[in-house]
Amino acid sequence: MRIDEYKDMIYACGRCNFCRGQEFNERCPEVFTQYWESSTARGRMAIARGILEGKLKYSEDLAERIFGCFMCARCREECKKAAQIDVIAITKAMREDFVEQGIPIPVEGAQMADSAYESGNIFQESAKAHSAWASGLQFESGSGILFYPGCLASHRFKEKTNILVRVLQAAGYKLDFLGDDQKCCGTPFWISGKMEHATKWVQDYVDMLSERGVKEIITPCPSCFRAFDEEYPSILGVETLPFKVKHTSEVLEEIIERGKLELKNSIDVVVTYHDPCEIGRYKEIYESPRKVIKALPGIKFVEMDRVRADAFCCGGGGGVKLMFSEHSEKVSAERLVHVQATDAEILSTICPACEMNLTHAVYKADAPIRVLDIAELVAVSAGIVDEEILDPYYIPDD
Ligand code: SF4
Ligand code: SF4
Repeated sequence: MRIDEYKDMIYACGRCNFCRGQEFNERCPEVFTQYWESSTARGRMAIARGILEGKLKYSEDLAERIFGCFMCARCREECKKAAQIDVIAITKAMREDFVEQGIPIPVEGAQMADSAYESGNIFQESAKAHSAWASGLQFESGSGILFYPGCLASHRFKEKTNILVRVLQAAGYKLDFLGDDQKCCGTPFWISGKMEHATKWVQDYVDMLSERGVKEIITPCPSCFRAFDEEYPSILGVETLPFKVKHTSEVLEEIIERGKLELKNSIDVVVTYHDPCEIGRYKEIYESPRKVIKALPGIKFVEMDRVRADAFCCGGGGGVKLMFSEHSEKVSAERLVHVQATDAEILSTICPACEMNLTHAVYKADAPIRVLDIAELVAVSAGIVDEEILDPYYIPDD
């Protein structure tokens, strides 16, 4: 069993309750949605201990406990003050054990991984559909800087992704793009525990990018960013890869700081910012997006409740959006409450999954709030797109 590797950590849990907090919605979105003690990080450590001691067995009854975790890492952050348990690594190991023991996982999780493997993207669409967002853009094959949007940005946010590339190109970046050769980064494999194809997938990707001369990847997706930055080296057992990866928020910060774009338009709106878990707590990128927003003329920036390491998940993490959509919706509705308390007109973020969840929450609540990537704010300020995209009732050309 994979959890054997984490035995010391599992036994280190002192049930201190830091990871849960006193209120149901205080820290862990999983317990906020499921209410069970077994839905908390410390509950999962007790389950893992029971399995290690042979008192419990993996079974379908445990699926919601193990696959209902948003992998938001709020508990891991809190556990830094306690036993320093890597709850995310243990949850991933439990998911892998599930699959290895042949116990059915939630069908949507299995489908996501199978779609990625079979069609190259999680939506089971054609390679042409996967690259349709790039229509009208010119790329420079072999430039060494690869723009890698990932599945969600490619399929669900075609217009946003097109705008983002126009911003980067206007700032002088010569971008390569894989076109119809782009495939999913592989995140669905480690989210679902279906790792049988992961090593070959990752090795093939690294070989393909090396042959193409890629030295740097720029991606707007925190999951893809973490895939190339952390999961690939870990799966291949290497310290470094032949390329580096940057998240677009870091690139936008560089663009602003070096004055690579003229920010000529004033944007007179109130903007707040949601920290995505995988770019915030996982990678500690908190300041780059804030610096970008604050540099744009006219914007009034307001912080919402629970930010940076304390941020509440958008509801989209860990595959829960697919596997337990009602839990996901409850969490995104709660996050929207934090947004509405600021009176912001624009909710900005830097993650396609967060944008999707929070946009759904906004639609459901019929709230006059527009959810945007910070690149879209930069695009308006630099005159690359019209300010009509700021309108809460704007319909993207997707
Ligand atoms: S914070 Fe860590 S040690 Fe404390 S109960 Fe949670 S998992 Fe256990
Ligand atoms: S990762 Fe997030 S959802 Fe999962 S147990 Fe920890 S706080 Fe709860």
